[in-house]
Amino acid sequence: MTDATNRQIRLAAHPVGMVEERDFELAETPMPSPGDGEALLRTLYLSLDPAIRGWMTGEDTYVPGIKVGDVMRAGALAEVVDSRSPDLNTGDLVLGMLTWSDYTVVRPGVDIVRPIPRQEPITAFLSVYGATGLTAYFGVLDVAPPAAGETFVVSGAAGAVGSVAGQIAKIQGCRVVGIAGGPAKCAWVTDELGFDACIDYKNEDVEARLRDTCPDGIDVYFDNVGGEILDAVIGQINERARIALCGAISRYNDVEPAPGPSNIFNLVPKRGRMEGFIVLDYLDRFLEGILQMGQWVEEGRIKYAEEIVDGLEAAPRALRKLFTGENTGKLIVRVAT
Ligand code: NDP
Repeated sequence: MTDATNRQIRLAAHPVGMVEERDFELAETPMPSPGDGEALLRTLYLSLDPAIRGWMTGEDTYVPGIKVGDVMRAGALAEVVDSRSPDLNTGDLVLGMLTWSDYTVVRPGVDIVRPIPRQEPITAFLSVYGATGLTAYFGVLDVAPPAAGETFVVSGAAGAVGSVAGQIAKIQGCRVVGIAGGPAKCAWVTDELGFDACIDYKNEDVEARLRDTCPDGIDVYFDNVGGEILDAVIGQINERARIALCGAISRYNDVEPAPGPSNIFNLVPKRGRMEGFIVLDYLDRFLEGILQMGQWVEEGRIKYAEEIVDGLEAAPRALRKLFTGENTGKLIVRVAT
């Protein structure tokens, strides 16, 4: 690449089933230049999120779908390299909803982009202080608040959201049981993060292990995966249980819609509640979440992991890791430093 070109990764095809590298194409385009009220950003890090797979279907949901030929989209950290906007200065570090490109032109006030402090490690603004950490924060404390002494179960427990959600529940005084794929992830969750137990759903009988590890039943479930694990949990909830529906990654690559939980009726005799949420609903409270998470991280009460993959061109292959379970903690692509 020369200074005059800009690499972009575009959607080549809507994925059918598992997302594949052939669903993307790399293009070299002329370097964009900002107009009045705009700024040119150089991408530093991209956040890879399971939601991107949903956007790739092209269907408009809480955000517009990505259409074939569109540049891929992601939460990102970037540096302002040329500003013609009064809201951004050259040299500012910004967090925003940007594109899988070396450079992006944004219009502050229209595009989601805001300056952030240059506080190392800056990648924490994509992980523990970013949308994933805040998803855990608001999902646990606002959507399904647990009380001290209650049993809290979280799936995707070694992932970016789940690992933080379980630790927040520990801070609230809960017994915390994680569900994750493989013995190494389970060991990390219990030995490093301090969960009380972790169920290896790839090698263990989840229903039986829930009975062992949650002898008093389940009061709160933070669901990142949906599918059969959600069924297993619903079968063992206590009265007045709360289920925060954060995501359903086990279903994102399905070609046909899967049937819903077969035992959802159990919510009726148990007077249980399931509630979905989107972290963007809490934009006006992000500062509250960042400050609290910052305090917990400083106190050593929240630990977090980041998995950083190098190179914009590696992003398509890296996205698959979320679905094969190859990531531990927050998956990030380093585009430039
Ligand atoms: P993670 O870091 O948790 O990565 C995804 C993990 O999901 C993988 O590492 C893998 O771990 C697990 N996984 C993949 N396939 C399956 C499967 N079939 N069954 C069970 N587990 C599976 O990603 P995030 O923390 O970024 O996201 C976690 C969830 O939170 C997702 O569902 C996402 O869509 C949702 N989310 C929701 C938000 C909201 O606003 N509601 C915002 C951000 C995320 P393992 O090895 O354990 O299988």
